[in-house]
Amino acid sequence: MKPATFSYAAPRTVEEAIELLEAYGDDAKVLAGGQSLVPLLNMRLAQPKVLVDINAVEGFDEIVEEEGFVYVPMRVRHVQGERSPLLREKLPVVSEAVHQIGHPQIRNRGTMCGSVAHADPASELPAVLMALDGRIVVKSGDGEEQITPEDFFLTYLTTSLQPGQLVTALRFPLLPPNSSAAFVEFAQRPGDFALCGVAAYLHLDEGGTIAEARLALMGVGGTPFCAEQAEAVLQGERPSAALFAEAAETVSQEVDPDSDIHASAEYRRHLAKVLIPQALEMAAARLGEER
Ligand SMILES: Cc1cc2nc3c(=O)[nH]c(=O)nc-3n(C[C@H](O)[C@H](O)[C@H](O)COP(=O)(O)OP(=O)(O)OC[C@H]3O[C@@H](n4cnc5c(N)ncnc54)[C@H](O)[C@@H]3O)c2cc1C
Repeated sequence: MKPATFSYAAPRTVEEAIELLEAYGDDAKVLAGGQSLVPLLNMRLAQPKVLVDINAVEGFDEIVEEEGFVYVPMRVRHVQGERSPLLREKLPVVSEAVHQIGHPQIRNRGTMCGSVAHADPASELPAVLMALDGRIVVKSGDGEEQITPEDFFLTYLTTSLQPGQLVTALRFPLLPPNSSAAFVEFAQRPGDFALCGVAAYLHLDEGGTIAEARLALMGVGGTPFCAEQAEAVLQGERPSAALFAEAAETVSQEVDPDSDIHASAEYRRHLAKVLIPQALEMAAARLGEER
């Protein structure tokens, strides 16, 4: 199929882009990498009157470190996140998650901010943002906001973004000493959307016990899922295989996935239980390397 007729605008600045988004409201759609939007247009599941193409906006295409944070601006493609020396050195969990998005062709065009704005429940980056306590930087005519993943992701393919708002960057905090993070997922074939994935963050105190743990899952509901009960199991304990197994058991009770054509709820619950110890072991091994 071909898309319904639309007008096309290619602003050169963020201000111009926001003006267009405000002027057209619900009738406008941002075009970033087009990897999710173009299929929706072709199937006529989306029929915006205007496409606001942000690819000609100057700047916003380099990953930068500033005052304890790494910023991934809106024109950064997945492949840049995958290969970024800065991310690989300081936040390897982000690169390893992005590496698992789709195929190289998708990663060459798709943007990291676009993936977050699209809010597919099988997306890697929302879970990683949640586990790392990252923020989504959103601009509109009213100014800039930094939104938590908990407030941003509302349900399947739905975010708190309002007409006139643009995601201009993702903000990841650098990890404090004695902390690490890891991401693992299961997909039926390389390149497929994963059925389930886990992003794990561990922070140890001086004595080697877990001062803070964060576990975010993808593929077990409409939004990334924060496994608070399992986090509580880990808190204050020393990392061990037995502890990670207990956390996995807790997660399998805590999640409430839906069944769909790709997997039953029971299978997704099983995957969560299998992946939790893998992600925690990987994060703990990284801490061992650091220490
Ligand atoms: C075969 C295939 C496999 C894929 N596999 C995966 C996968 O495993 N994991 C995964 O996460 N994704 C996967 N994707 C999706 C891919 O990652 C897309 O790149 C991503 O979902 C959207 O990014 P984009 O830059 O292409 O955005 P677009 O397709 O241009 O836009 C997607 C949506 O987000 C909005 N949007 C985009 N940028 C902004 C912005 N800056 N501010 C506000 N709104 C914005 C658009 O208006 C649109 O509604 C796959 C896609 C395909 C076709």
